[in-house]
Amino acid sequence: MSVLIVGSVAFDSIETATGSDPRALGGSATYGSVAAGFFSPVQLVGVVGEDFDQENIDLLASRGVDLEGLERKAGRTFFWAGKYSEDFSERETLTTDLNVFADFQPHIPESYRSTPYIFLANIAPNLQQMVLEQTDDPMLVVADTMNLWIDIQRDDLLELLRSVDVFVLNDEEARMLTGETNLIRAGRRLLTYGPSRAIIKKGEHGAVSLTEDSYFAAPAYPTQDVVDPTGAGDTFAGALMGYLAAHDSASEEVIRRGLLLGSVVASFTVEGFGLDRLREIDEHAIEQRYRELRSYCTVE
Ligand code: AMP
Repeated sequence: MSVLIVGSVAFDSIETATGSDPRALGGSATYGSVAAGFFSPVQLVGVVGEDFDQENIDLLASRGVDLEGLERKAGRTFFWAGKYSEDFSERETLTTDLNVFADFQPHIPESYRSTPYIFLANIAPNLQQMVLEQTDDPMLVVADTMNLWIDIQRDDLLELLRSVDVFVLNDEEARMLTGETNLIRAGRRLLTYGPSRAIIKKGEHGAVSLTEDSYFAAPAYPTQDVVDPTGAGDTFAGALMGYLAAHDSASEEVIRRGLLLGSVVASFTVEGFGLDRLREIDEHAIEQRYRELRSYCTVE
């Protein structure tokens, strides 16, 4: 099965304690699509400007990403600049230039409308909603978000959540949206907004998944070589979605494996700027870390 992914396609300027990259290929849908593409075919919906190079188009196409839904418009590609604290625990957004995203209205190509797995990667919730309105009874809708939208489009986000099956967000965002400081309480509160599952990402501490009657904790893969954490969350969710689509299942067992694989693929993302590491690896490297990660959290 395929995954339809909507979100940002961007150029990022990133500064960390170890270095900087003034123009890394980024965006939530870019990371999500490349990660999902390790497991299943991907249909990408987004927009880029005239400055988006053919080299980047070729990279996406080579990863099994269908680009019929990627619009090219007059103007510049979405641009985001961020700076990390010394230990990567905090990130400051320095610039968000929406550019071609400013008046973007997603149009879902006819051939994408009945795709069963939909990943609404981080983008304004009203745009995520527009995508859902053009799709035909999907089997699973997974949505991500960020602090900005909780701040400025909270009502749109809450409205969207009524139609979402799985909500993925980070710990800080879960606390911010629910007002709960305890993460388990925050997760339970998220379930009252509509989704049947909440997945809370905790950066280097992994992620937890909650439903009414299940709880699962996926550790992060313990990498020592963190260079740039940008896109780790999008990679995590993209890999999970690709895995679910590949198995055409959202059973608890398949989701648990998908969460571990999400941790594994995200561990590669953080080892380089932008998509530098993800473009180097293949399925074998993922499989090897997956086995390792499983051995780190299993007791016979
Ligand atoms: P993450 O590190 O997983 O939170 O994702 C980082 C990516 O999100 C970067 O590649 C940015 O281009 C993208 N991004 C940052 N701000 C926004 C925004 N307001 N809307 C959509 N994408 C964004």
